[in-house]
Amino acid sequence: MQCYRDKILTMDDIISLCKRRGFIYQGSDIYGGLAGTWDWGPFGIMLKRNVMQAWWNFFVDKRPDIFGVDAEVIMNHKVWEASGHVKTFADPMVEDLVNHKRWRADHLLKDHGIDADGLTNDELTKLIQDNNVKSPDGNPLSGVKSFNMMFRTTVGAIESSDAVTYLRPETAQGIFANYRNVVDSLYPDMPFGIAQQGKAFRNEISPRDFIFRSREFEQMEIEYFVHPDQWEAEFENWLKLVHEFLEQVIGLPAKMIHDYEVPAQDRAHYSKRTIDVNFDYPIGQEELMGIAYRTDFDLMNIQNATGKSMEYRPKDGGEPFVPHVIEPSFGVERLIMAILTACYTEDEVDGSKRTLLKLPKSLAPVVVTVSPLLKNKPELVAKAKEVYNQLQQAFPGRVNWDDSGNIGKRYRKADEIGVPHCVVIDFDSLNNDDVTVRDRDTTKQTRVKVSELAEYLGK
Ligand code: ATP
Repeated sequence: MQCYRDKILTMDDIISLCKRRGFIYQGSDIYGGLAGTWDWGPFGIMLKRNVMQAWWNFFVDKRPDIFGVDAEVIMNHKVWEASGHVKTFADPMVEDLVNHKRWRADHLLKDHGIDADGLTNDELTKLIQDNNVKSPDGNPLSGVKSFNMMFRTTVGAIESSDAVTYLRPETAQGIFANYRNVVDSLYPDMPFGIAQQGKAFRNEISPRDFIFRSREFEQMEIEYFVHPDQWEAEFENWLKLVHEFLEQVIGLPAKMIHDYEVPAQDRAHYSKRTIDVNFDYPIGQEELMGIAYRTDFDLMNIQNATGKSMEYRPKDGGEPFVPHVIEPSFGVERLIMAILTACYTEDEVDGSKRTLLKLPKSLAPVVVTVSPLLKNKPELVAKAKEVYNQLQQAFPGRVNWDDSGNIGKRYRKADEIGVPHCVVIDFDSLNNDDVTVRDRDTTKQTRVKVSELAEYLGK
């Protein structure tokens, strides 16, 4: 994928294109919205599915050592007690003392150019006071308190402490909770991985930056179980694989991707090594995904809480051991925001500005748009429908019909959706059984025989 642009891209450019062209809308928009929630429109869901399928294909389908699971969003509350989430899954919060709006303390400090990663609440409070940091509305702030980000709910008709649980804040625990099941039913060779894609929920104090930080999002995670002696080599291998996926499969430019070795004081308490893979977003360089060495922290927590052994018995008769874990964890929305950032392009065509999304064909929601040159000529419409139906067979669900406005407007619309090709049926098509194929990136037009069209577009 070749990606370039001549202007400085803003978040508003992306948000407005996403809304205009049916990719992503504000959640509950018609009722005034709900902060931190986003709905996927017709083209957005197709892009999202293609991205999630590309991930599954690369990390699960093509690998004999990685197995998929699909655990529930709502799990026994003991999962979140044993994992430490009930006690520690919290962000530092301050309150505006005048209007009582709540903000993330470390984000406010960051906005003032002060790095506040890994500090205690007391240290954050002191930094806020010493630097006279005010709320974004200009009012004084409270001291810093911890705020647990899990959404609490109750299961069943009887309200009791046993009925309390949480919407999962990560997919990882659904994997760990099924580790024993997978080992017992498949007895895979070591090392092996379990993968899961699905929703995660976090009650972010101040959701912001479009889909980058939302309250409901989708994760794609792998827990890769290794012998403790192997973790360093496996970690390096996973870092390579993650780059291969981002650069070769998704097509993100390598120069926009940066590895950040997270210092010990900023790592989650269970992690002995973490690399945040950051991306050059319009909001600056921020975390796209992370790779963490989680040691045996999670399996040992489960073993201690349940009394059930998490040991793996080596097939060569070696000593049983509790595996250690390397975890590559992707957020779908942040990956899609990276794709939109990299592919958003503006250029000039016939003297006027054009916006296009240079999506790779494998990810583009629509592979081809089919149009009759004129919509009031039944013979052109009939021929165009015939071509449309034929292409639907070749690219099921990824062919778009467009007979609105004039051809120029249809091209511009298709460019913004990132459609690689537009096919137009004109009067010559009726005699010659060929069509015009227009290329999104070059705007070049080529005549192609209908019989060769699917092959041409699939190249
Ligand atoms: P951050 O520091 O940005 O809050 P995190 O380190 O808490 O992120 P993890 O718990 O490691 O994130 O989650 C793994 C991945 O899930 C992240 O790399 C990111 O892609 C995604 N993710 C986490 N929180 C959100 C969110 N609120 N909205 C969208 N994606 C998220």
